[in-house]
Amino acid sequence: MSPEFTPEREIDAARHGEDAGEAALRPQTLADFTGQKASRENLSIFIAAARKRGDALDHVLLHGPPGLGKTTLAQIVARELGVGFRATSGPVIQRAGDLAAILTNLQPRDVLFIDEIHRLQPAIEEILYPAMEDFQLDLIIGEGPAARSVRIDLAPFTLVAATTRAGLLATPLRDRFGIPLRLVFYTPEELCSIVARGADKLGFDLSPGGAMEIARRARGTPRIAGRLLRRVRDFASMSAQEGPVGAELADAALNRLEVDALGLDGMDRRYLRRIAEYHHGGPVGVETLAAALAESRDTLEDVIEPYLIQEGLVLRTSRGRVLGERGWRHLGLEPPPRDQG
Ligand code: ADP
Repeated sequence: MSPEFTPEREIDAARHGEDAGEAALRPQTLADFTGQKASRENLSIFIAAARKRGDALDHVLLHGPPGLGKTTLAQIVARELGVGFRATSGPVIQRAGDLAAILTNLQPRDVLFIDEIHRLQPAIEEILYPAMEDFQLDLIIGEGPAARSVRIDLAPFTLVAATTRAGLLATPLRDRFGIPLRLVFYTPEELCSIVARGADKLGFDLSPGGAMEIARRARGTPRIAGRLLRRVRDFASMSAQEGPVGAELADAALNRLEVDALGLDGMDRRYLRRIAEYHHGGPVGVETLAAALAESRDTLEDVIEPYLIQEGLVLRTSRGRVLGERGWRHLGLEPPPRDQG
Protein backbone atom coordinates (compact mmCIF):
# COMPACT_ATOMS: atom_id res chain seq x y z
CA MET A 1 0.00 0.00 0.00
CA SER A 2 1.47 3.38 -0.94
CA PRO A 3 2.10 5.91 1.83
CA GLU A 4 -0.37 8.29 0.20
CA PHE A 5 -3.19 5.80 0.42
CA THR A 6 -6.40 7.16 1.92
CA PRO A 7 -9.70 5.38 1.59
CA GLU A 8 -11.41 8.51 0.39
CA ARG A 9 -8.95 9.23 -2.37
CA GLU A 10 -9.06 5.59 -3.42
CA ILE A 11 -12.83 5.59 -3.79
CA ASP A 12 -12.84 9.00 -5.41
CA ALA A 13 -10.46 7.71 -8.05
CA ALA A 14 -12.63 4.65 -8.48
CA ARG A 15 -15.60 6.82 -9.28
CA HIS A 16 -13.90 9.13 -11.71
CA GLY A 17 -11.00 7.53 -13.40
CA GLU A 18 -9.81 4.38 -14.98
CA ASP A 19 -6.70 2.56 -13.86
CA ALA A 20 -4.52 -0.11 -15.38
CA GLY A 21 -6.38 -2.97 -13.68
CA GLU A 22 -9.67 -1.91 -15.18
CA ALA A 23 -8.94 -2.63 -18.82
CA ALA A 24 -8.31 -6.30 -18.03
CA LEU A 25 -11.84 -6.67 -16.64
CA ARG A 26 -13.66 -4.99 -19.52
CA PRO A 27 -16.16 -7.29 -21.24
CA GLN A 28 -15.45 -7.64 -24.96
CA THR A 29 -18.81 -8.69 -26.43
CA LEU A 30 -22.45 -7.86 -25.91
CA ALA A 31 -23.05 -11.41 -24.66
CA ASP A 32 -20.31 -10.87 -22.06
CA PHE A 33 -21.83 -7.59 -20.90
CA THR A 34 -23.87 -8.21 -17.74
CA GLY A 35 -26.92 -6.11 -16.83
CA GLN A 36 -28.57 -3.18 -18.68
CA LYS A 37 -30.94 -5.69 -20.25
CA ALA A 38 -33.13 -3.19 -22.11
CA SER A 39 -30.20 -1.27 -23.62
CA ARG A 40 -28.37 -4.47 -24.50
CA GLU A 41 -31.35 -6.02 -26.26
CA ASN A 42 -32.10 -2.85 -28.22
CA LEU A 43 -28.50 -2.46 -29.28
CA SER A 44 -28.26 -6.05 -30.36
CA ILE A 45 -31.25 -5.65 -32.70
CA PHE A 46 -30.07 -2.34 -34.15
CA ILE A 47 -26.54 -3.67 -34.68
CA ALA A 48 -27.83 -6.79 -36.46
CA ALA A 49 -30.11 -4.65 -38.68
CA ALA A 50 -27.31 -2.21 -39.58
CA ARG A 51 -25.01 -5.12 -40.43
CA LYS A 52 -27.67 -6.72 -42.60
CA ARG A 53 -28.23 -3.51 -44.54
CA GLY A 54 -24.51 -2.75 -44.70
CA ASP A 55 -25.23 0.74 -43.36
CA ALA A 56 -23.61 2.71 -40.57
CA LEU A 57 -25.50 2.25 -37.29
CA ASP A 58 -27.61 5.25 -36.27
CA HIS A 59 -25.96 7.59 -33.73
CA VAL A 60 -26.12 6.35 -30.14
CA LEU A 61 -26.34 8.49 -26.98
CA LEU A 62 -25.44 6.72 -23.74
CA HIS A 63 -26.30 8.53 -20.56
CA GLY A 64 -25.93 7.65 -16.91
CA PRO A 65 -23.59 8.09 -13.92
CA PRO A 66 -19.85 7.40 -14.26
CA GLY A 67 -18.59 3.82 -14.21
CA LEU A 68 -21.74 2.09 -15.47
CA GLY A 69 -20.22 0.90 -18.76
CA LYS A 70 -20.68 3.66 -21.35
CA THR A 71 -17.14 3.44 -22.74
CA THR A 72 -17.26 -0.34 -22.58
CA LEU A 73 -20.51 -0.44 -24.56
CA ALA A 74 -19.14 1.97 -27.18
CA GLN A 75 -16.16 -0.34 -27.76
CA ILE A 76 -18.44 -3.36 -27.91
CA VAL A 77 -20.66 -1.65 -30.50
CA ALA A 78 -17.65 -1.14 -32.78
CA ARG A 79 -16.47 -4.70 -32.28
CA GLU A 80 -19.91 -6.19 -32.96
CA LEU A 81 -20.26 -4.04 -36.08
CA GLY A 82 -16.81 -5.19 -37.19
CA VAL A 83 -15.64 -1.59 -37.74
CA GLY A 84 -12.88 0.70 -36.46
CA PHE A 85 -13.12 2.59 -33.16
CA ARG A 86 -11.86 6.11 -32.48
CA ALA A 87 -12.25 7.74 -29.08
CA THR A 88 -12.05 11.33 -27.91
CA SER A 89 -13.85 13.52 -25.42
CA GLY A 90 -15.70 16.84 -25.30
CA PRO A 91 -13.12 18.84 -23.34
CA VAL A 92 -10.24 17.58 -25.51
CA ILE A 93 -11.67 19.01 -28.74
CA GLN A 94 -10.62 22.65 -28.52
CA ARG A 95 -10.75 23.83 -32.12
CA ALA A 96 -12.88 23.13 -35.17
CA GLY A 97 -9.76 21.75 -36.87
CA ASP A 98 -9.37 19.08 -34.16
CA LEU A 99 -12.81 17.71 -34.88
CA ALA A 100 -12.36 18.05 -38.65
CA ALA A 101 -9.13 16.03 -38.49
CA ILE A 102 -10.86 13.23 -36.60
CA LEU A 103 -13.95 13.17 -38.83
CA THR A 104 -12.04 13.21 -42.14
CA ASN A 105 -9.93 10.28 -40.99
CA LEU A 106 -12.88 7.98 -40.30
CA GLN A 107 -13.40 4.94 -42.52
CA PRO A 108 -16.91 4.07 -43.74
CA ARG A 109 -19.15 2.83 -40.85
CA ASP A 110 -16.50 3.48 -38.17
CA VAL A 111 -17.55 4.27 -34.62
CA LEU A 112 -16.45 7.63 -33.21
CA PHE A 113 -16.80 7.74 -29.42
CA ILE A 114 -17.06 11.17 -27.79
CA ASP A 115 -17.04 10.94 -24.00
CA GLU A 116 -18.44 13.84 -21.94
CA ILE A 117 -20.16 15.25 -24.99
CA HIS A 118 -21.96 17.81 -22.78
CA ARG A 119 -18.61 19.58 -22.42
CA LEU A 120 -18.21 20.22 -26.15
CA GLN A 121 -17.94 23.91 -27.00
CA PRO A 122 -21.07 25.30 -28.71
CA ALA A 123 -19.11 26.38 -31.83
CA ILE A 124 -17.82 22.82 -32.24
CA GLU A 125 -21.24 21.36 -31.60
CA GLU A 126 -22.48 23.26 -34.65
CA ILE A 127 -19.91 21.58 -36.86
CA LEU A 128 -21.12 18.26 -35.56
CA TYR A 129 -24.75 18.82 -36.66
CA PRO A 130 -24.26 18.55 -40.47
CA ALA A 131 -21.63 15.86 -39.89
CA MET A 132 -24.13 13.72 -38.00
CA GLU A 133 -27.06 14.44 -40.26
CA ASP A 134 -25.65 14.52 -43.79
CA PHE A 135 -22.07 13.30 -43.28
CA GLN A 136 -20.85 16.69 -44.41
CA LEU A 137 -18.39 19.08 -42.93
CA ASP A 138 -18.76 22.82 -43.48
CA LEU A 139 -15.52 24.61 -42.77
CA ILE A 140 -14.63 28.29 -43.02
CA ILE A 141 -11.16 28.76 -44.45
CA GLY A 142 -9.33 32.05 -44.04
CA GLU A 143 -10.47 35.24 -42.33
CA GLY A 144 -12.15 38.51 -43.18
CA PRO A 145 -13.21 39.24 -46.78
CA ALA A 146 -11.05 36.40 -48.12
CA ALA A 147 -12.81 33.83 -45.96
CA ARG A 148 -14.71 31.17 -47.83
CA SER A 149 -16.68 28.15 -46.84
CA VAL A 150 -15.81 24.68 -48.09
CA ARG A 151 -17.90 21.58 -47.86
CA ILE A 152 -16.25 18.20 -47.39
CA ASP A 153 -18.03 14.86 -47.75
CA LEU A 154 -17.40 12.42 -44.92
CA ALA A 155 -17.66 8.66 -44.81
CA PRO A 156 -20.91 7.58 -43.15
CA PHE A 157 -20.03 6.93 -39.51
CA THR A 158 -21.69 6.23 -36.16
CA LEU A 159 -21.27 8.70 -33.35
CA VAL A 160 -21.51 7.02 -29.96
CA ALA A 161 -21.59 9.76 -27.35
CA ALA A 162 -21.58 9.50 -23.57
CA THR A 163 -22.81 11.95 -20.98
CA THR A 164 -23.53 11.81 -17.28
CA ARG A 165 -26.72 13.80 -17.77
CA ALA A 166 -28.70 13.99 -21.00
CA GLY A 167 -30.41 17.12 -19.65
CA LEU A 168 -27.16 19.04 -20.14
CA LEU A 169 -27.25 18.60 -23.91
CA ALA A 170 -28.67 21.22 -26.22
CA THR A 171 -31.95 19.97 -27.68
CA PRO A 172 -30.77 20.09 -31.33
CA LEU A 173 -27.84 17.87 -30.42
CA ARG A 174 -29.92 15.46 -28.37
CA ASP A 175 -32.45 15.16 -31.18
CA ARG A 176 -29.82 13.97 -33.62
CA PHE A 177 -29.27 10.70 -31.79
CA GLY A 178 -31.49 7.98 -33.22
CA ILE A 179 -30.68 5.59 -30.36
CA PRO A 180 -30.72 7.21 -26.90
CA LEU A 181 -30.00 4.72 -24.12
CA ARG A 182 -30.12 5.35 -20.40
CA LEU A 183 -27.86 3.21 -18.25
CA VAL A 184 -29.11 2.38 -14.77
CA PHE A 185 -27.44 1.25 -11.55
CA TYR A 186 -26.77 -2.51 -11.42
CA THR A 187 -28.50 -4.86 -9.00
CA PRO A 188 -26.36 -6.63 -6.38
CA GLU A 189 -26.97 -9.90 -8.26
CA GLU A 190 -25.67 -8.45 -11.53
CA LEU A 191 -22.64 -6.98 -9.77
CA CYS A 192 -22.06 -10.31 -8.04
CA SER A 193 -21.74 -12.05 -11.38
CA ILE A 194 -19.41 -9.26 -12.65
CA VAL A 195 -17.25 -9.60 -9.51
CA ALA A 196 -17.14 -13.42 -9.77
CA ARG A 197 -16.11 -13.19 -13.42
CA GLY A 198 -13.50 -10.55 -12.56
CA ALA A 199 -12.07 -12.74 -9.79
CA ASP A 200 -11.80 -15.61 -12.30
CA LYS A 201 -9.92 -13.41 -14.75
CA LEU A 202 -7.55 -12.31 -11.98
CA GLY A 203 -7.02 -15.90 -10.80
CA PHE A 204 -8.33 -14.89 -7.36
CA ASP A 205 -10.06 -17.60 -5.33
CA LEU A 206 -13.19 -15.78 -4.11
CA SER A 207 -16.21 -17.61 -2.67
CA PRO A 208 -19.76 -16.72 -3.84
CA GLY A 209 -20.32 -15.15 -0.39
CA GLY A 210 -17.21 -13.00 -0.82
CA ALA A 211 -18.35 -11.90 -4.29
CA MET A 212 -21.78 -10.96 -2.96
CA GLU A 213 -20.28 -8.94 -0.10
CA ILE A 214 -18.28 -6.84 -2.61
CA ALA A 215 -21.28 -6.56 -4.94
CA ARG A 216 -23.61 -5.29 -2.20
CA ARG A 217 -21.16 -2.55 -1.31
CA ALA A 218 -20.26 -1.31 -4.81
CA ARG A 219 -22.83 1.49 -5.09
CA GLY A 220 -24.53 -0.23 -8.04
CA THR A 221 -21.44 0.52 -10.16
CA PRO A 222 -19.20 -1.99 -11.98
CA ARG A 223 -16.17 0.33 -11.91
CA ILE A 224 -16.37 0.50 -8.11
CA ALA A 225 -17.00 -3.27 -7.90
CA GLY A 226 -13.83 -3.89 -9.93
CA ARG A 227 -11.82 -1.56 -7.75
CA LEU A 228 -13.09 -3.07 -4.50
CA LEU A 229 -12.39 -6.54 -5.86
CA ARG A 230 -8.75 -5.66 -6.49
CA ARG A 231 -8.39 -4.08 -3.04
CA VAL A 232 -9.96 -7.11 -1.32
CA ARG A 233 -7.50 -9.27 -3.24
CA ASP A 234 -4.65 -7.10 -1.88
CA PHE A 235 -5.86 -7.54 1.69
CA ALA A 236 -6.36 -11.27 1.15
CA SER A 237 -2.86 -11.72 -0.22
CA MET A 238 -1.48 -10.18 2.99
CA SER A 239 -3.57 -12.41 5.26
CA ALA A 240 -2.47 -15.82 6.42
CA GLN A 241 -5.86 -17.39 5.67
CA GLU A 242 -5.97 -20.49 3.46
CA GLY A 243 -8.62 -21.38 0.86
CA PRO A 244 -11.19 -19.21 -0.92
CA VAL A 245 -11.77 -15.70 0.36
CA GLY A 246 -15.22 -15.42 1.93
CA ALA A 247 -17.63 -12.73 3.08
CA GLU A 248 -15.88 -12.25 6.42
CA LEU A 249 -12.50 -11.29 4.97
CA ALA A 250 -14.17 -9.17 2.26
CA ASP A 251 -16.16 -7.37 4.95
CA ALA A 252 -13.03 -6.68 7.00
CA ALA A 253 -11.21 -5.33 3.94
CA LEU A 254 -14.14 -3.11 2.95
CA ASN A 255 -14.40 -1.77 6.48
CA ARG A 256 -10.71 -0.88 6.31
CA LEU A 257 -11.52 1.04 3.11
CA GLU A 258 -14.29 2.81 5.08
CA VAL A 259 -16.97 1.47 2.76
CA ASP A 260 -20.00 0.98 4.98
CA ALA A 261 -22.77 -1.63 4.95
CA LEU A 262 -24.72 0.23 2.24
CA GLY A 263 -21.59 0.76 0.18
CA LEU A 264 -21.31 4.44 1.05
CA ASP A 265 -17.87 5.96 1.50
CA GLY A 266 -16.54 8.91 3.49
CA MET A 267 -17.62 11.44 0.93
CA ASP A 268 -21.22 10.16 0.86
CA ARG A 269 -21.40 10.26 4.64
CA ARG A 270 -19.99 13.79 4.80
CA TYR A 271 -22.69 14.85 2.35
CA LEU A 272 -25.48 13.24 4.40
CA ARG A 273 -24.14 14.54 7.69
CA ARG A 274 -23.89 18.06 6.35
CA ILE A 275 -27.61 18.11 5.51
CA ALA A 276 -28.52 16.54 8.87
CA GLU A 277 -26.31 18.56 11.16
CA TYR A 278 -26.12 21.99 9.53
CA HIS A 279 -29.49 22.17 7.80
CA HIS A 280 -31.72 20.05 10.08
CA GLY A 281 -32.39 17.69 7.19
CA GLY A 282 -32.95 20.40 4.55
CA PRO A 283 -34.11 21.61 2.18
CA VAL A 284 -30.72 23.01 1.23
CA GLY A 285 -29.55 24.19 -2.18
CA VAL A 286 -26.97 22.16 -4.05
CA GLU A 287 -24.67 25.19 -4.42
CA THR A 288 -24.58 25.65 -0.64
CA LEU A 289 -23.71 21.98 -0.16
CA ALA A 290 -21.05 22.10 -2.84
CA ALA A 291 -19.36 25.10 -1.23
CA ALA A 292 -19.50 23.56 2.25
CA LEU A 293 -18.05 20.25 1.06
CA ALA A 294 -15.47 21.88 -1.25
CA GLU A 295 -16.75 19.87 -4.21
CA SER A 296 -18.04 21.14 -7.51
CA ARG A 297 -21.76 21.19 -8.08
CA ASP A 298 -21.22 18.85 -11.06
CA THR A 299 -19.48 16.29 -8.86
CA LEU A 300 -22.37 16.34 -6.42
CA GLU A 301 -24.97 16.05 -9.17
CA ASP A 302 -23.19 13.51 -11.39
CA VAL A 303 -21.22 11.37 -8.98
CA ILE A 304 -22.53 11.56 -5.44
CA GLU A 305 -26.27 12.23 -5.58
CA PRO A 306 -27.67 9.77 -8.15
CA TYR A 307 -27.04 6.72 -5.98
CA LEU A 308 -28.11 8.42 -2.73
CA ILE A 309 -31.34 9.51 -4.42
CA GLN A 310 -32.01 6.09 -5.90
CA GLU A 311 -31.54 4.53 -2.44
CA GLY A 312 -33.98 7.01 -0.85
CA LEU A 313 -31.31 8.52 1.39
CA VAL A 314 -31.77 11.94 -0.14
CA LEU A 315 -34.69 13.55 -1.98
CA ARG A 316 -34.38 16.21 -4.62
CA THR A 317 -37.16 18.80 -4.21
CA SER A 318 -37.85 22.12 -5.88
CA ARG A 319 -36.56 23.88 -2.76
CA GLY A 320 -33.37 21.87 -2.50
CA ARG A 321 -32.03 18.59 -1.13
CA VAL A 322 -33.83 16.92 1.78
CA LEU A 323 -32.57 14.04 3.87
CA GLY A 324 -34.87 11.05 3.46
CA GLU A 325 -35.98 8.91 6.36
CA ARG A 326 -33.48 6.25 5.33
CA GLY A 327 -30.74 8.89 5.32
CA TRP A 328 -31.45 9.79 8.95
CA ARG A 329 -31.48 6.17 10.02
CA HIS A 330 -28.29 5.42 8.14
CA LEU A 331 -26.55 8.12 10.18
CA GLY A 332 -27.97 6.54 13.34
CA LEU A 333 -30.29 9.52 13.91
CA GLU A 334 -34.04 9.76 14.43
CA PRO A 335 -35.88 11.55 11.61
CA PRO A 336 -37.58 14.69 12.97
CA PRO A 337 -41.38 14.58 13.31
CA ARG A 338 -43.10 15.28 10.02
CA ASP A 339 -43.90 18.91 9.22
CA GLN A 340 -47.66 19.24 8.94
CA GLY A 341 -47.51 22.49 6.93
P1 ADP B 1 -18.26 4.72 -18.03
O1 ADP B 1 -17.72 4.98 -19.41
O2 ADP B 1 -19.75 4.65 -17.97
O3 ADP B 1 -17.68 5.65 -16.99
P2 ADP B 1 -16.77 2.24 -18.28
O4 ADP B 1 -17.31 1.68 -19.53
O5 ADP B 1 -15.40 2.88 -18.35
O6 ADP B 1 -17.80 3.25 -17.59
O7 ADP B 1 -16.78 1.05 -17.21
C1 ADP B 1 -15.95 1.07 -16.06
C2 ADP B 1 -15.41 -0.34 -15.79
O8 ADP B 1 -16.47 -1.12 -15.28
C3 ADP B 1 -14.94 -1.04 -17.07
O9 ADP B 1 -13.54 -1.06 -17.14
C4 ADP B 1 -15.39 -2.47 -16.92
O10 ADP B 1 -14.33 -3.24 -16.43
C5 ADP B 1 -16.47 -2.41 -15.88
N1 ADP B 1 -17.79 -2.66 -16.45
C6 ADP B 1 -18.69 -1.73 -16.83
N2 ADP B 1 -19.85 -2.31 -17.23
C7 ADP B 1 -19.67 -3.63 -17.08
C8 ADP B 1 -20.51 -4.77 -17.30
N3 ADP B 1 -21.75 -4.63 -17.72
N4 ADP B 1 -20.00 -5.98 -17.05
C9 ADP B 1 -18.75 -6.11 -16.57
N5 ADP B 1 -17.91 -5.08 -16.33
C10 ADP B 1 -18.36 -3.85 -16.57
